[in-house]
Amino acid sequence: MLFKLHPDTPKFQVFVLLNQELIYFLNKSINQQRFGRRLFSYTRVGKACWENSKANDLSVKNDLTRDKFQKLFENLKREIETNRQQLHRVVIDNQDLSSFFSTPDPALLSFLRPETFKAFKVLAAHLYGATKDLQPIIDAAGGANIHSHFEAFRIDTLNGNICKACGMEKLAPFRANIGIENQWRADYDHQLCKSKYPLFAVHPDNLIPLCDVCNQDAKKAKDLFVAEDTSLRYSFYPFSEEAHSYVLLEIDNLKDPNPSVKVSWNTSDSICISKLDTWDNIYEIKNRVEGEFRNLDQIIENEIQPENYTEFEHEISRKARAISDSILKSKTWAYWYHKFFCVLDSIDKDAFWERSKFVQSMAMDGGDYILLG
Ligand SMILES: [Zn+2]
Repeated sequence: MLFKLHPDTPKFQVFVLLNQELIYFLNKSINQQRFGRRLFSYTRVGKACWENSKANDLSVKNDLTRDKFQKLFENLKREIETNRQQLHRVVIDNQDLSSFFSTPDPALLSFLRPETFKAFKVLAAHLYGATKDLQPIIDAAGGANIHSHFEAFRIDTLNGNICKACGMEKLAPFRANIGIENQWRADYDHQLCKSKYPLFAVHPDNLIPLCDVCNQDAKKAKDLFVAEDTSLRYSFYPFSEEAHSYVLLEIDNLKDPNPSVKVSWNTSDSICISKLDTWDNIYEIKNRVEGEFRNLDQIIENEIQPENYTEFEHEISRKARAISDSILKSKTWAYWYHKFFCVLDSIDKDAFWERSKFVQSMAMDGGDYILLG
């Protein structure tokens, strides 16, 4: 994450309750012989999970929440008892996600039979995709559904409407004259994807709203702790760790026709570098930033429109002034543009100006030509 989440970020209570229910079920499944109501808690959530079944709604053909729990139960019965105990133990022992991030173990559930793992995965996806929207569960969670949680998440005094992973995009546009229920919302990203880590599918600290580019275009189902070459790696814990103070921007080939921006890291700490590399790999940070700054003359023209060198120099140092937290949280790309102008302010601006003046006069000649033509 470019910026960590605000410490007062509200937990989504529906996930808190569903996560508790999942743990309750795994515990009861250790010794109970047959699938039944006693595997679920005697709360409104347990009742809602039990009653959400195709057996109770004959118009439905697909399995519902209870049916998915049943499939997992049947598979757990085929495991040896110590495996059922171990599954419950593993889930209990890994509820603190910050410690999981510092000592990640991607093979946490490898002791399960593949069929059991698959049934767990199917249940996890259903809890997240469908069960969370059951009205009795929303009622039990104090009435806050995912739309109201999203609005609470992005208020200006907490996280703002900006994607914390990249700082480049809004979470979702805010529309006037539209109620909370009908506002567009960002998707919630499973930091630990539910297909590989079903035990965290409804863990409240594992779900974070991200922009569409980060979530859908860049991250997809990439594993935070396993690189493409299957080596283990580290990742920033979104609630307490952030990348922004380790990012270095440089302008290469200043005097060339096409100077370019390069992103690198200004730390020699190997774990921190691993986290930064993961962040870059997951969200394609370097490619996106270097792509945004691919035409520096255009950037200067759009941001400053200088008429002479004095104006150019003055505007750059003005844009390099310290930037407030509230701007970083509300304005897309603010962090990256500020970084860019700080670099430009610190280098040989004359060389840059000479080159860009050349480009400007070419553009004017072109303009004259069009007028004359
Ligand atoms: Zn993003």
